[in-house]
Amino acid sequence: MMLALLVPSRHQKGGHEARKQVMALQEWIERLLATATVLGGYPPAAPSPPVTVIAQSELSARVCGGACAVRGAFIPGQGLFIINALEIEASPQDRSVLLHELVHYLQELNGRYANESACDRFRDRELEAYRLQDEYLSRYGLGVSNQTASLEWQPSACLDDEGSGAVQTFRTR
Ligand SMILES: [Zn+2]
Repeated sequence: MMLALLVPSRHQKGGHEARKQVMALQEWIERLLATATVLGGYPPAAPSPPVTVIAQSELSARVCGGACAVRGAFIPGQGLFIINALEIEASPQDRSVLLHELVHYLQELNGRYANESACDRFRDRELEAYRLQDEYLSRYGLGVSNQTASLEWQPSACLDDEGSGAVQTFRTR
């Protein structure tokens, strides 16, 4: 009898824990989306985008075509991706990666910088995402030089032919 009672309750607990984690992530997505909306001056009440949590190796294969240090990405038409090593609940730094990608989602949704050239659009969207990420981190006394780091990039969009129609992928290291 004891065993019969223990087994289902253990299963129940596992299911409950898993549900709680999914709920926590969804809650963070909504909260961080609201924060990004306010910080960036975007129209309120955007629906939250689909967020896929995947292994780092999988995400780097997808956005870099090989190994790279990517931690999050927004791919227009596919949604947002974050690596499963991010500690969204525990780490403001890790949460800021999600915030950064949510800024790219809002940019795409609202067409911010949409009529710039591909190269300028890429740069301006990155600069804004890093600026808002820094603003978020500064709430925790963690403002770092993300923006400067992004300026040192040689965005692939600037090397491509203008108007190639290629979908730009925005990613956070
Ligand atoms: Zn970015």
